[in-house]
Amino acid sequence: MTIFLKIIQREIPADIVYEDSHCLAFRDVNPQAPVHVLLIPKKPVASLDELTEDDAELCGHLLLTVPKIATLLGLDGGYRTVVNTGPHGGQTVFHLHIHIMGGRNLAWPPG
Ligand code: AMP
Repeated sequence: MTIFLKIIQREIPADIVYEDSHCLAFRDVNPQAPVHVLLIPKKPVASLDELTEDDAELCGHLLLTVPKIATLLGLDGGYRTVVNTGPHGGQTVFHLHIHIMGGRNLAWPPG
């Protein structure tokens, strides 16, 4: 079981900023920007690579939820979304998550 599933099941604490029937968003424990939130589906999908056509509606819901969370958190100057996938992508938790970061100017390209 991943740590994010434990957060969904309230087995470990998290600073939850948004929740609906399909997804959950909470503050990253090691923030890389003044605002750094992780948006995850409640369905335990390991990564983008594990998605199937059956997940199309869920994916749409996740993306449509991102700007709602950005508004909730006051990210009116813009923000960065990142989905790390696999070891070369820097993924460390194998439950799909969208990083939402903002609150400062973010450099591009990332390292
Ligand atoms: P990634 O490297 O893309 O897999 O991102 C995983 C993220 O999860 C990292 O930014 C971690 O800081 C974050 N993280 C790990 N454990 C927790 C936790 N218990 N609560 C909140 N964020 C976490």
